[in-house]
Amino acid sequence: MTNPLFSDRLLDWFDQHGRKDLPWQQQPSPYHVWLSEIMLQQTQVSTVIPYYKKFTDRFTTISALANAPVDDVLALWTGLGYYARARNLHKAAIIMEESHQGQMPTSLDELVALPGIGRSTAGAIMALAHHQQFPILDGNVKRVLTRYSAIAGWPGNKQIENKLWLIAEALLPEHRIANYIQAQMDLGATLCTRSKPNCSSCPLNGDCQAYLNGNPTDYPTSKPKKHIPTRQSHWIVAQAATGEILLERRAAVGIWGGLWSFPELDNAKDIDHICTKHLSITTDSVTSLHTIKHVFSHFKLEIYPHLIQCELNNNYIAENKNLSWYKIDEALLLGLPAPVKSLIESLQ
Ligand code: SF4
Repeated sequence: MTNPLFSDRLLDWFDQHGRKDLPWQQQPSPYHVWLSEIMLQQTQVSTVIPYYKKFTDRFTTISALANAPVDDVLALWTGLGYYARARNLHKAAIIMEESHQGQMPTSLDELVALPGIGRSTAGAIMALAHHQQFPILDGNVKRVLTRYSAIAGWPGNKQIENKLWLIAEALLPEHRIANYIQAQMDLGATLCTRSKPNCSSCPLNGDCQAYLNGNPTDYPTSKPKKHIPTRQSHWIVAQAATGEILLERRAAVGIWGGLWSFPELDNAKDIDHICTKHLSITTDSVTSLHTIKHVFSHFKLEIYPHLIQCELNNNYIAENKNLSWYKIDEALLLGLPAPVKSLIESLQ
C-alpha cells in the first residue's frame, strides 16, 4: 500500500490535533500574521500570547504602529527579549506607511526587503495571510524535515539550509496551504519535539527516516560549539532620598538598543569620577548589590550594580535628553531590559 502524500497526512492530523484557537489565528490578516511570526521567533507560544494581546490592543493597525514613538513599542516589548525585533517592526511599519499605504506588500521580494523579515517569515505571511504556495523554514519545520529526511549537518550551514528549502518546496500541497503551514509548525511544537518526539502518534512515522533508523534525536545536528566570552559591567544605581532613580537611554544599536538602563561602566574604579564629574551626584553612600548574570546568544554578562543614595540633582539633565530621573512607577512604564526591570522593582 502506498503512503498518502506527506501533506495529506499532515493535514488529516491537523484537522484532529492542530491548534486552531491561537489569538493570531482569529485575525489572520497580514499584519497579525507578521506580528505573531516576529514575536514567536525564539519564543514559546505561551510567552507570546499576553504580549501579542497587549500589542494589538495598543497598535491596532500598521499605521498605528508606524505613528507611535519607538519608546512606546519598546515599552510593550519589555521582557520579550531580542529587542532588535521590536525596533525592526517599527522601522518596517514606517516603510509600509510611507511606501505601501500602510499595508503589507503582497510579494515575497517586497516582504524580504523590509527590516526584520527573512524568507521564512515572508513565506509564512504569503501562505497564512495571502494563501499563496510558499514554504517556511522556522525552527520547528527544520526539526521535522531534518528528521523526516535524515539530513545530517547543522541547519544554520547555508548548504544544509538550501537543501531543506528544496525539500520544503517539494512537499508543498496544492490546496489548504495555510492549514498545511500551520500543521508543520504544530507538529514540530507538539509531537516532533526537541528531546522527546512522540513518534508513535506521528502521521509521518511510516516513512520518517530518522524514526525508521531509530535515532530521531540525532537531528537536527547541533550548532558547532564555540566558546562564549563573559563580559563585566558596573551599573550606577543612583537613588534620591525622595525615591527617584537615574536612568539613561542606551544607544540605538547594540545590546538592548534604545531601552532605558542604569548608567553603566566597564570598570568600578571610574564610579567616583563619573558620578561627580558627569552625573553631579555624591558618592558618600555606596552599597554593592547582588551580582546579576544575563546570558545572550553570543556572550554572558556579569552585572555589578552599585546602589548610590544621593540628592536628586537635575542641573545637567536638560542638556542630555538621554538621561533622566524617574519615579519608580514611571520608570516601570519605559522600555526596559528584563534585568533592569527586576532591579527597579526591587528598589520599590
Ligand atoms: S516520526 Fe518522530 S521524528 Fe519523525 S517526524 Fe514524526 S515525531 Fe518527528
